[in-house]
Amino acid sequence: MYIVQIASECAPVIKAGGLGDVVYGLSRELDERGHCVEIILPMYDCMRYDHIWGLHDAYLDLGVPWYGGEIKCDVFCGWVHGRVCFFIQPKSQDQFFNRGHVYGSHDDPMRFAFFSKAAMEFLLKSNKRPDIIHCHDWQTGLVPVMLYEMYQYYGMERQRVCYTIHNFRHQGSCGNEILAATGLNRPEYYFDYSRLQDNFNPFALNLMKGGIVYSNYVNTVSPHHAWEARFTDVGYGLGHTLEIHQDKFSGILNGVDYNFWNPATDKLIPANYDIDKLEDKAKDKQALRQKLLLQESDKPIIAYIGRLDEQKGVHLVHHSIYYALQRNAQYVLLGSGTSSEVNSKFLHEKYFLNDNPDVHLEIGFDEELAHLIYAGADMIVVPSNFEPCGLTQLISLKYGTVPIVRGVGGLLSTVFDRDYDPDHAPEKRNGYVFYQMDNAALESAMERAIGLYYEYPKEFEQLVQQGMEYDYSWKAAGSQYLNVYEHIKYK
Ligand code: ADP
Repeated sequence: MYIVQIASECAPVIKAGGLGDVVYGLSRELDERGHCVEIILPMYDCMRYDHIWGLHDAYLDLGVPWYGGEIKCDVFCGWVHGRVCFFIQPKSQDQFFNRGHVYGSHDDPMRFAFFSKAAMEFLLKSNKRPDIIHCHDWQTGLVPVMLYEMYQYYGMERQRVCYTIHNFRHQGSCGNEILAATGLNRPEYYFDYSRLQDNFNPFALNLMKGGIVYSNYVNTVSPHHAWEARFTDVGYGLGHTLEIHQDKFSGILNGVDYNFWNPATDKLIPANYDIDKLEDKAKDKQALRQKLLLQESDKPIIAYIGRLDEQKGVHLVHHSIYYALQRNAQYVLLGSGTSSEVNSKFLHEKYFLNDNPDVHLEIGFDEELAHLIYAGADMIVVPSNFEPCGLTQLISLKYGTVPIVRGVGGLLSTVFDRDYDPDHAPEKRNGYVFYQMDNAALESAMERAIGLYYEYPKEFEQLVQQGMEYDYSWKAAGSQYLNVYEHIKYK
């Protein structure tokens, strides 16, 4: 099959979170099964160009219709760790992708509407006719809309779209200028409850809703979150739209790319180890302490890696630092705030705790350090408010780092409480789960984990090994996506 992914991120060249990991990991899995996969991305100024090989021009002066005129783009092609990627660079004063960041501009809907339009125009004019176009999140929600309403009439009538939602919270809400810009026009047609009109704001368009309505198949990234999105508030207002389109909606659990995330082969950690050589994990723990200037001791290291925002339960993350210190553990945090308010709160905390030899807070995004923390820590906390899938707990399991998670979304589908889980036998359990969104609940789970570490080290090691035995690679998800593609493919 010929599959084209259109996305705003692809690890490691441009990654803000799990979306980047998924686009790369799924593409690799499909590639390795013999399918032809290409990835279309914006050409950001802030990409990791050191991860692109053989960058060359693929299509110069691509004219992309925009507001009745056109914007010229150059399209470049290169390999990102074996995956073929096309990068779209508009030559316009808007500087859509030269902002020094991926998201966070006031005109984000316009930037990514342009990207979606340019990607479609590139496919059309370079005669690429994939069996499947796979697009992701609100940024590319307009792709299936434009395919159905415009491009099928220009010669792309056999292309089918799979649309994956990684986070319902960000939906790309915008005004009707997007319609004029992309040439869709006809506001009276698109401002309709059955099409792009936002379910709660009748004066706004909702790009994610467009993706759901117009795609041939829609999924989110875990079965439990698919249920939550339909029936609870974490669908952020799209529950009824999913209800209407339930026949083409499901949840497919993300995988982890074990070529990148594998302690046995990871080049970014000083000591490689696996389940049979677990004692070498201690060397990474020592390296982590040295790097972050933590004191040597027999304490466990508890970590947090992730965005610092409301979704991630930021007040519980904050509390976990002080609770860990109180319970005689060390703590390492790697995170970047999505608002300046949260960033400054944690920077303040960092300053306050600066002289404490048992804690290090690193505010920012650092892929290399993340690898060392997964390897060197003993436990990781993931106290999310909601979590469509969550990758940090899956990576931690592979690295023998015990996850302590809140039982929501993908966390609930992948972490099974050591002390109580009616659905899993004791030898299949792999971490700790709590449910309420308050300090007491978090503390009870952390206390059990730290208690086991100190009081029953053999049992703790057993738990570590049970976690490492889980296979959360792309194998299962790869097959499920291929089933979807087969199901919707033009026949
Ligand atoms: P998200 O909601 O952000 O997509 P996920 O758990 O699905 O959360 O994916 C997070 C991914 O981003 C993981 O690969 C994690 O290691 C990485 N990550 C998150 N924050 C940071 C950071 N500050 N530095 C390095 N990597 C990070």
